Amino acid sequence: MKLYNTLSRTIEEFVPLNDKKVNMYTCGPTVYREIHIGNLRTYITSDILVRTLKAQGYDVTSVMNITDVGHFRFSSDINKVIDPVMQEAKETGKSPLEISRKYTDIFLKDAKKVGIIPADFYPRATDHIGDMIELIEVLLEKGFAYIAEGNVYFDVKKFKDYGKLSGNTLDKMESLMEAVRVSVETDKNDSADFALWKKAEPDRVMKWDSPWGQGVPGWHIECSAMAQKTLQMLTLDIHTGGEDLIFPHHEDEIAQSEAASGQPFVKHWTHTNFLLVDSEKMSRSKRYVYTVEDLEKKKFSPLAFRYLTFMTHYRSKMNFTWEGLEAAQSALDKLYETAASLPNPQGGVLKFEAKFEDALNNDLNMPQAVSVLWEMVRSKNPKGQIAASLYKMDEVLGLSIKDKALELVNIPQGVLEMVSERVKLRRDRKYNAADLIRAKIERMGYVLEDTKDSSRILRKI
Ligand code: AMP
Ligand code: ZN
Repeated sequence: MKLYNTLSRTIEEFVPLNDKKVNMYTCGPTVYREIHIGNLRTYITSDILVRTLKAQGYDVTSVMNITDVGHFRFSSDINKVIDPVMQEAKETGKSPLEISRKYTDIFLKDAKKVGIIPADFYPRATDHIGDMIELIEVLLEKGFAYIAEGNVYFDVKKFKDYGKLSGNTLDKMESLMEAVRVSVETDKNDSADFALWKKAEPDRVMKWDSPWGQGVPGWHIECSAMAQKTLQMLTLDIHTGGEDLIFPHHEDEIAQSEAASGQPFVKHWTHTNFLLVDSEKMSRSKRYVYTVEDLEKKKFSPLAFRYLTFMTHYRSKMNFTWEGLEAAQSALDKLYETAASLPNPQGGVLKFEAKFEDALNNDLNMPQAVSVLWEMVRSKNPKGQIAASLYKMDEVLGLSIKDKALELVNIPQGVLEMVSERVKLRRDRKYNAADLIRAKIERMGYVLEDTKDSSRILRKI
């Protein structure tokens, strides 16, 4: 399988470290609000990667962390650096735990709705504080970190490979730091250094004891510790995330992990480009931040969004529009209806299965994979073979084609009897009576397609 690697900046043949085993880590959500469709785009890419590897016989272990503390961000609303989970708790009068549990549950449900296979492990940052402290202690011991007034910082200058992922090497850092600095950390030796441990602010509810006093871990150290601990490996096969995480988050994950272990942290980095809405960056103030709930409110199925993401290669920017989603929904409905009309699966159309696999092996070329699917569906091959290959392809696509097709053809006995009665009336040329039954059937939520001397019935989508 050929897959672009952000680290080497080339498309490489993907070869796991350990024969057929693949260890994969994805940076999960910060759980203080519903995730949006941009987050989902990135998670869908990871899901397609997992499904493709599984379809090719790899034994994949996937981990996605849940960031329930420590992801400090600049809030333009209040012009301050905040921990968003804590902030949400404060604003709603709930505990940080209530907030993180609530949004973790919603996240897992939303991910399921867009067809994402659950990860094997979802480590929560708050359950791994001890592992983070241990890792920070190793970095202090090895001289890669220093303590300043209850904070611990990573000494970027000590790690000579800094910048290898993002290209933001130390010589370029001065100007870059202005752009990424999230707080005025005046006690740092160098502006490029980043926090491994932060001293608790006086009014902080959620904090932990450490050798350096009460505080919270930095966001980057969370991922390094949780990835290595959960996968029980110092070197991971694949690490994924959105492209905004390349710098500083993933650059810093590499620095900490490699400084501590002396081993490469990740073999293969996969980053998904951003989703834009109406060609603009999603922004809460412009109400452009759409969630699964927003899609459902407008009567779209979340799987139509999944299908829509396939229309753009994961390394290109994707532009979301409601018209685009409408077209994706129609195409998906058409696919379900076609599947519902197919006989039982038998054999397969190997030529198309091979072309489909080639598309996936070509750096997850989903637009190409979907076009192969339609080419096959429209081909003149035996219908049972088409059905078999379609369901096989759907193991990677994750569009629930078989289930939806079964739902469409699962018609109650009473309705089937009305259909037979109508077929009889038509044969007897009693068209008025037949039309009355058709209207009744349609009011009950079904559609009829008349053939020369029979009738096909489906549930209305
Ligand atoms: P966050 O909760 O902000 O850390 O984001 C979770 C994941 O979604 C990260 O991998 C981000 O890189 C990714 N992400 C955030 N916004 C977008 C977007 N507009 N398009 C694609 N991925 C995004
Ligand atoms: Zn991460």
